[in-house]
Amino acid sequence: MKSDIQICRDTTLTPIEQIAEQAGILPDDLSPQGSLKAKVKPSILNRLSDRKEGKLVLVTAITPTPLGEGKTVTTIGLAQGLAKINQSVMACIRQPSMGPVFGVKGGAAGGGYSQVAPMEKLNLHLTGDIHAVSAAHNLAAAALDARIYHEQRHGYDAFEEKTGLKALRIDINRISWKRVMDHNDRALRMITVGNNEPGKTINGIAREDGFDISAASELMAILALSKDLKDMRQRIGRTVMAYNLDGKPVTAEDLKVAGAMAVTMCEAIEPTLMQTLEGVPTLIHAGPFANIAHGNSSVIADRIALKLSDFTITEGGFGSDMGFEKACNIKAQQADRGPDCAVVVATLRGLKANSGLYDLRPGQALPEAIFAPDEQALQAGFANLKWHIRNAAKYGIPVVVAINRFPQDTDAELTQLKAMVEAEEFGCHVDVAISEAFGKGGEGAIELANAVVKACETPAQFKPLYNLEQTLEEKLMTVAEVGYGGRGIELSELAKNQLAELKALGHDNLAVCMAKTPLSISHDPSLKGAPTDFTIPIRELKLCAGAGFIYALCGNVMTMPGLPERPAFMEMDIDEDGNITGLS
Ligand code: ADP
Ligand code: MG
Repeated sequence: MKSDIQICRDTTLTPIEQIAEQAGILPDDLSPQGSLKAKVKPSILNRLSDRKEGKLVLVTAITPTPLGEGKTVTTIGLAQGLAKINQSVMACIRQPSMGPVFGVKGGAAGGGYSQVAPMEKLNLHLTGDIHAVSAAHNLAAAALDARIYHEQRHGYDAFEEKTGLKALRIDINRISWKRVMDHNDRALRMITVGNNEPGKTINGIAREDGFDISAASELMAILALSKDLKDMRQRIGRTVMAYNLDGKPVTAEDLKVAGAMAVTMCEAIEPTLMQTLEGVPTLIHAGPFANIAHGNSSVIADRIALKLSDFTITEGGFGSDMGFEKACNIKAQQADRGPDCAVVVATLRGLKANSGLYDLRPGQALPEAIFAPDEQALQAGFANLKWHIRNAAKYGIPVVVAINRFPQDTDAELTQLKAMVEAEEFGCHVDVAISEAFGKGGEGAIELANAVVKACETPAQFKPLYNLEQTLEEKLMTVAEVGYGGRGIELSELAKNQLAELKALGHDNLAVCMAKTPLSISHDPSLKGAPTDFTIPIRELKLCAGAGFIYALCGNVMTMPGLPERPAFMEMDIDEDGNITGLS
């Protein structure tokens, strides 16, 4: 089979204005950026306000291997499959981060004959939204250090007299706003800023700082969760950058930088319209990761697609304990709109990786044997798929399992897995289809598309796991116990103090966003399958008042990834005609 980029290059794409017209997007709603991508103005929602919304289908997965089990492939393939059976459909996906593109996983445009095109545009800078998020974030970081410098250089009273501004008296030991960039760069996790020659302060005030990847920026979460520009502006104003010497939060509004941050992101709030290889309109918006952020594309893009089509297919990152949990408990509660159906993507290799029968080392390639038939490993790993089906069903929505066929998979083993799902009693609507979307595009996803249409006929009774009125501790416990099936949480001394402080500051009503490994349902990547005997260790809590959640760092999860020994970028090149190779 041809490489992803070759397939993409060999496909004749439709001018974006035509894709927009087919989707019901008028020229006034559109800012074309070249011939194959266009920004869609959120004001389109005013024009469409009287329209009924279609069905929201949320694609999730089993506990994945580090390579991914094919949610994006299935999202795009399912959208193409629905179009093949004459349904009106749009897909909504996140913009890939350059961290994974150049690191281990590669791009996130889907693959094979189920891709968003042109994939090299999607995987790299696209329309610059991630750069805008990074620029707005780093503007606030610069504003913070400049303010500390000027206040300390003059003294608080003299600063107030000179500037007419109130001194913020920032405690440099309590700064919560780091810097961000969209690359995997472990060397920047902990840095010192404001380094000076002895006795000088010209370079600012020295303090410990660090970088996160842009996908983990609170601004990325805000971009995905905002209802409109006004909401985004207000949320940016509420972001907490630091605490002052009295322990009170210092916000972007206090720094008078919130307006300029929103200005920096004013185009980023417009989703980008692209197309799949088969011409299905697709909105690309925001790019938070589901391990260190909420991991879902934007509320604005979903809303636009729901108004324009009968089916909106979107994806929550990693397994259903990760992006799907956050889609249901954070995004759905904020948007007041839950999913109507869950699609759980399963692969033979992914289930075998969950069997506990293979020695899987972090950062190492999967053993070849995992791609060959192995009845025992499939049976053992099936526990993980059952867990994710039951988990999705917990939220009151019908579930369709998509078995994503890889080239090495045998018919016998795929049919066996399908029969295993069919034989199981789940006590709710569960259907299963084999998807050949990668190898055959929409044609290969017709069985899946029919199953999704049928599932959506069952009225969903969506309910999140917790409501916002519960205390933060109750919400954290609920996610650990009901969301993951564990034995609750264990707060570090730091987290206990932070919890008390968050309560005192009046933030008990926020949602909780868990930052944990995606490689296990628990916090421990070595616990495969469907573990139950674990307690989630919460080492630190961070207030994300703009995004509307408390960020809980579980176990030793990192918010800035690193590059592996043989990163994906080593395969990439470009010739004198601009043809790119090695991007997948
Ligand atoms: P996810 O969205 O779940 O992380 P992706 O859809 O991005 O997963 O797929 C992960 C990687 O696996 C991509 O490189 C993709 O092209 C590849 N892939 C997915 N499904 C298949 C398949 N059925 N056959 C071959 N490669 C696949
Ligand atoms: Mg994906």
